Amino acid sequence: MTRYVIVGGSAGAIGAVEGIRKLDPAGEITVVTEEPMAPYSRPAIGEYLYGRTNLEGLYFSSPEFWLEHSVRVLLGSRAMSIDLKDKTVKLDGGQVLGFDKLLLATGTRPFIPKMEGMDREGFYTFTNIDDVQRIRQELPRTERAVVIGGGLIGVEAAEALVNLGVGVTVVELRGWLLNLLLDREAARIVESAMESRGVRLVMGQSVKEILGREGNDRRVGGVVLSGDARLECDLVVSAVGVIPRTDLAVQAGLKVNRGILVDRFMQTSAPSVYACGDVVEAYELIGGGSRVFAIWSLARLGGRVAGANMAGGRVEYPGGVAMSALRYFGVPIVSVGLDAQETTKEFEVLTKRGSESYRKIVLRENRVVGFTLVRGIEAAGLIYNLMRTQTDVSGLKGELLSPDFSFAHLPEKVRKRTLMEAWA
Ligand SMILES: Cc1cc2nc3c(=O)[nH]c(=O)nc-3n(C[C@H](O)[C@H](O)[C@H](O)COP(=O)(O)OP(=O)(O)OC[C@H]3O[C@@H](n4cnc5c(N)ncnc54)[C@H](O)[C@@H]3O)c2cc1C
Repeated sequence: MTRYVIVGGSAGAIGAVEGIRKLDPAGEITVVTEEPMAPYSRPAIGEYLYGRTNLEGLYFSSPEFWLEHSVRVLLGSRAMSIDLKDKTVKLDGGQVLGFDKLLLATGTRPFIPKMEGMDREGFYTFTNIDDVQRIRQELPRTERAVVIGGGLIGVEAAEALVNLGVGVTVVELRGWLLNLLLDREAARIVESAMESRGVRLVMGQSVKEILGREGNDRRVGGVVLSGDARLECDLVVSAVGVIPRTDLAVQAGLKVNRGILVDRFMQTSAPSVYACGDVVEAYELIGGGSRVFAIWSLARLGGRVAGANMAGGRVEYPGGVAMSALRYFGVPIVSVGLDAQETTKEFEVLTKRGSESYRKIVLRENRVVGFTLVRGIEAAGLIYNLMRTQTDVSGLKGELLSPDFSFAHLPEKVRKRTLMEAWA
């Protein structure tokens, strides 16, 4: 009987268990996860903070998922080291697990830039349920908060705090928010929605010091910006970014770049060790190289591929594409593939700006390689399909920018193919 050990118990691990069980109903699967609970949706922790969803709603799969798939779960256990020769994983409690196949699905940890005073009470990150529960305890004494970083996690934290009646300032180093996802014009729509909800935006600056409070220097009382201005606040959320948790892989001697390097089968440089999710640098569909993606659906997909291959299958990872479907401060956004910041002469960029909306399509040799829709996102699935199939859209350029772009605009040949695929 094959012994599988999975380190991490989130999206990647769930996918892997699904992949293994398809081919191997009897193998012994052990999941080691330092978090003390069933897998939950990390993207929904903001909603959990402001009470839009409760703990039940946050669970990603049913809490019985492990039981239903005959998985032994070691909750609250951390894997400390891997011995590739003996094929063992050592846990923090001293327990040693033997494996035939090992999966690393350890995700990311927050990157926290060094700031003076960051050890003060009231300074938090925002990536897991523990962060949210600790921020919740601060709420009765929090009127003003500073969020450092205006990316996806920072904007999500800001929205949750605003919904709780906290006055929020977002400090972003670059010139606009969500800059890894959106260009300046698209971001402006989200920024104005945030400002209309009272969020103050400070662009082009960072925080260099966390100040103490008058009468209690141990608690957060404000911040000093890189330009020397001071902002008073009761809470600081650091949301500058995340980095892959590659420490175990490095210790084991696996090949690691920014993330753990894996091939198209999600296999690492050691034959019996696989990896998936936010911790890997895996094949990228559009660019053709390899890249780290922090995307829930790709973590699960990579897990399914890894799991199937660990169980003796031969399944190829189709490749990742940057892909976000979000709704911040009431503004729906879909951003897929290459964005404007990656475009050069080889790309043609079509844009259309409405009073409150924005559409951008990035083409290479008349094929869609990326698109951004801000409001009016209904055709996202259709455009994604054109991108996925690398359909020649030279006859459709005007239509692609129209908010009414629909199935009916597609050439008959493409319509037929799309329908056949949907029925297959
Ligand atoms: C606030 C927030 C919002 C997000 N919003 C979106 C979104 O809108 N859309 C989207 O697609 N993605 C979003 N993401 C990203 C998404 O959550 C990740 O892509 C996904 O969770 C990755 O899954 P994973 O299994 O690779 O890793 P993770 O979910 O990071 O899980 C890794 C697990 O492994 C555990 N672990 C690590 N090391 C060890 C060890 N040594 N021993 C035991 N356990 C260990 C960790 O504690 C953790 O529980 C968001 C993330 C955050 C934080």
